[in-house]
Amino acid sequence: MPDNIVVGGVSVDTRHWIGGRRVASSETFTDVSPIDGGTIGEISRGTALEAAAAVAAAKAAFPAWAATSRAERARILHAIADGVEKRIEELSIVETTDNGALLRSHRRGVIPRVAHNFRFFADWLLKLEHEDFETRGHTNHVSWDPAGPSVLITPWNAPLMLATWKVAPALAAGNTVVLKPAEWSPLTASLLADIAAEAGLPAGVLNVVQGYGSEIGDALTSHPDVRRISFTGSVPTAKRIAESAAGHLTPLSLELGGKSPLLVFADADLDLAVDLAVEQYDNAGQVCLAATRFLVEESVAEEFTRRFVEKAATLTQGDPRDETTDIGPNIHPRQLEKIDAFVQRALAAGARAVIGGHRKDTQYYAPTLLTDVAQDSEIVQEEVFGPVLTLQTFSTEEEAVRLANDTRFGLAATLATGDAERAERVTEQLVAGTVWVNCFFVRDLQAPFGGSRHSGVGREGGTWSFDFYCDVKNTVTAPNGWKNHG
Ligand code: NAD
Repeated sequence: MPDNIVVGGVSVDTRHWIGGRRVASSETFTDVSPIDGGTIGEISRGTALEAAAAVAAAKAAFPAWAATSRAERARILHAIADGVEKRIEELSIVETTDNGALLRSHRRGVIPRVAHNFRFFADWLLKLEHEDFETRGHTNHVSWDPAGPSVLITPWNAPLMLATWKVAPALAAGNTVVLKPAEWSPLTASLLADIAAEAGLPAGVLNVVQGYGSEIGDALTSHPDVRRISFTGSVPTAKRIAESAAGHLTPLSLELGGKSPLLVFADADLDLAVDLAVEQYDNAGQVCLAATRFLVEESVAEEFTRRFVEKAATLTQGDPRDETTDIGPNIHPRQLEKIDAFVQRALAAGARAVIGGHRKDTQYYAPTLLTDVAQDSEIVQEEVFGPVLTLQTFSTEEEAVRLANDTRFGLAATLATGDAERAERVTEQLVAGTVWVNCFFVRDLQAPFGGSRHSGVGREGGTWSFDFYCDVKNTVTAPNGWKNHG
């Protein structure tokens, strides 16, 4: 097996990155491009052996990295951001080839945001204040200590972006990291290891191990030397990880799936509502936050649907490297099978496809809108993770809120309304980590991000990330504590 493959003109090392060295496994797995189903290359397939080696490397590197001054850690994070910015074009083409999301989005939004993740947490680290409180003359001094080796496990739908939401704050906090990217899109994590090494990150501070979660996951998440696990992915995997982490009570952060609603009230600007609705096909519907359930006030439902269908018809679906493409392929033929099975079961149960309802070929699924769906049906209750949306109507605000909250998820909700008081009233009642009012997908990194109920445990962003990656300590010193100590 070659150690390097060339992807869109960019050389990518296919081996793990452990303790500042490239390490090959005896076995490989095949990485396939969603664009045409063709083989990209053979990737080192990690086992418990590589997991243990990576955790050992992270453990060995931890004391020195934790003791590195904040200013130095911040300097290195900025150097990583510089490296990302220099390689935007390379990272974009590799990511698009690997996960099929639009090249133009990677170039202009996603990869620059990766660099921003490092800059943001570097700057935040320097602003993080130690707090002092007084109790009966005693000083309470609160400090953030780095927690230790951290295992970060990420999905395939926004690989580098989601990985660096975790890597950047973990490193900033003084932790060392073992990153396990998804097996369907492992390549940019390998490039990140190169960039971090070039930026001067010491050996063992960032380790990358590749492979199937089912083969390498338990060895990482049950390891006694791991002090934090941050996971983004599906609910069943999260449950498995929680069980595995329980053995050592390893603290967990879980960012999981969703079945988020888009509530369209009759007082909304319908053009805006339709724009928000059509955005839900972004990344071929493989977005955890996607508002996949349209809840539309009865009196405007027909008009909304008409305009939505008109607008959806203008979207082009095809090669994600093409500047004019709006919707790319789905990640893997297995994902397409899963999507289609959901849709066929819904149709068999009485749903009607207003548009789509079928595959286009082995890589692409036709953008789909289903109506005549019952609230307790599978298609309304379960995450599809494809370009499949449902539309239901409501006649009162109370009904809208009830339908919106009636799933086991609570990741996000989007409202389209022209009434500020209604927006406030409805928002208060929604179970969701993020609510967007007349907008979608915008978030400041200082703000919390995460989900309620089965959508997750904990929050990421700003202070919340540091809270998670640190052991917070309170040191209480007696009044005049040093009086008799010379
Ligand atoms: P997944 O759960 O199948 O896999 C996610 C990661 O977990 C992969 O790296 C996989 O290899 C690993 N894994 C699998 N089994 C494991 C095990 N036993 N132990 C440890 N790791 C294991 O999810 P996916 O299909 O890659 O991603 C799609 C899901 O992710 C969707 O449900 C989506 O909503 C969710 N997601 C959530 C967010 C969020 O921030 N809330 C963001 C993106 C995606």
